Amino acid sequence: RPDGSEYPIAECPIHRSAKDRIACEVEDEVMWRKDGTSLRVAYAASPVHDDGQLSGVVVNFRDITARRLAELELIMARDVAEEASRAKSEFLARMSHELRTPLNSIIGFANVLIRKRGGSFTPDDLTYLGRISSSGMHLLGLINDILDLSKIEAGRMTLEMSAVSLDALARETLDQFETQAKERRVVLRTDVPAALSSLDTDAVRMKQVLINLVGNALKFTERGEVVIAIVSDATGRPVRLSVRDTGIGIPADRIAAIFTVFEQADSTTSRRFGGTGLGLAISRSLCEVMGHTLEVESIEGVGTTMTICFGHSAIAWVRRTPSSVPVTQPHSSLDGSDAATVLVVEDEPDARLLLGHLLDETGCRVIYATTGVEALHLARMHLPAMIFLDLGLPAISGVDLLRLFRSDEILKDTPIVIVSVSANDSRSLLDGAAAVLDKPVTRDQIRDVVRLWLPSHMVRQAAPT
Ligand code: ADP
Repeated sequence: RPDGSEYPIAECPIHRSAKDRIACEVEDEVMWRKDGTSLRVAYAASPVHDDGQLSGVVVNFRDITARRLAELELIMARDVAEEASRAKSEFLARMSHELRTPLNSIIGFANVLIRKRGGSFTPDDLTYLGRISSSGMHLLGLINDILDLSKIEAGRMTLEMSAVSLDALARETLDQFETQAKERRVVLRTDVPAALSSLDTDAVRMKQVLINLVGNALKFTERGEVVIAIVSDATGRPVRLSVRDTGIGIPADRIAAIFTVFEQADSTTSRRFGGTGLGLAISRSLCEVMGHTLEVESIEGVGTTMTICFGHSAIAWVRRTPSSVPVTQPHSSLDGSDAATVLVVEDEPDARLLLGHLLDETGCRVIYATTGVEALHLARMHLPAMIFLDLGLPAISGVDLLRLFRSDEILKDTPIVIVSVSANDSRSLLDGAAAVLDKPVTRDQIRDVVRLWLPSHMVRQAAPT
């Protein structure tokens, strides 16, 4: 030993090997030279027998100092990389919030101006406003994609599992692309077995994947059809879902590359069709996180089929849907007039102004709070018919405020609509919300949610778009 004391013989594997007449192996041990320096060794001891008598032990030493040093270097490099990755994810999460907040204002206010087309805007002005809005949406999509990727990479993607009707999800997705398909002479349809049971998966993330697959299918198909086909087993359990198109197809030597971040089938794709090459990488990772796989088959000039094969996943949490919550009509909101009072809880001035404007258009009387304390005070005083709640509030967070409202004797049944950039990250904490809307909210979303929760005589009919 380095201090000169002797290694207890009973602890020595060489001794054990001889005593018990067995072979022993030691993976990694520190041995000390006489000069006090150490080395790492691995060794094996085997007893030697002579005419049935134990005559000795053969011990085979290997100096593993270099190997252990290399392993330690690897562990240190991994720790440094993990720290860098964590810092990158944190940076992206922060930056994306900082970027999304002003972007939501740009998009929201551009849309408000576009709708005032009866005003003094020339056709050119309206075109420029349209460009501001669509470029803003494009940038927002990119930021959301990059954030999703960093979350998946950092293993921080959370899922909310529930029993999902794939039939309904497929139809909803196709509905979103109806106008685009008509412009291209492409038929959109579903091919779904009659008795299809639901699938335990994350509805929001599954829809995100479907939107990406159908969006791509349409983008690369000039004419023909885009079909969402679902196959089930004999019991009706969904086995796989395919998005099939009759488009340009993908060259065989580029099939593997399209799932790589920022890769496209050929270098002219982004010039001809736009896109960044992030969608499929995200879709495949999301499928894997949900326990499914995403595969592609394609023939150039004939078409492409993207197939999700469903794995088994457990139900973790099912969010309450609006229909299961009783609609309340607080008496004070009627106060002589039919206009309902709604409370907007939002600390960011532009977002407050935009939401207020959209609610104003539905005929509601809007009151505002910028903090949780002010919100509780105003809500108890005015008993609003609905509350619109941002999550990123200072001091008391939106999630905590939702919990406080839900446990308040007077306010517990007031429908609360979450309006946030980070709603997806907190879905498991939003049980009890009447609806969850991602920023930027549109006029239609606000009108729909107000119509759903308020009696019709309190809601102004839609103005022409
Ligand atoms: P993006 O569409 O933004 O470029 P994706 O990751 O969604 O990014 O797709 C990567 C590439 O894969 C596309 O640029 C395109 O070259 C190819 N691709 C994806 N889907 C199809 C499809 N249905 N038909 C033909 N090519 C496709």
